[in-house]
Amino acid sequence: MTDTTDYTFVCPECAESMVVNAPMRDALIDNGCVICGSSVSDQSFSHA
Ligand SMILES: [Zn+2]
Repeated sequence: MTDTTDYTFVCPECAESMVVNAPMRDALIDNGCVICGSSVSDQSFSHA
């Protein structure tokens, strides 16, 4: 089984949005927004 779940990420700070997969989602939660560096939580993601 391949995990093909995608999420739509919308940054609460800079409003950048992008579609990410599960590993990218985890990386964003660990590292923060790639654009503005703001910390993000799972609240910032919705299923694409
Ligand atoms: Zn941001």
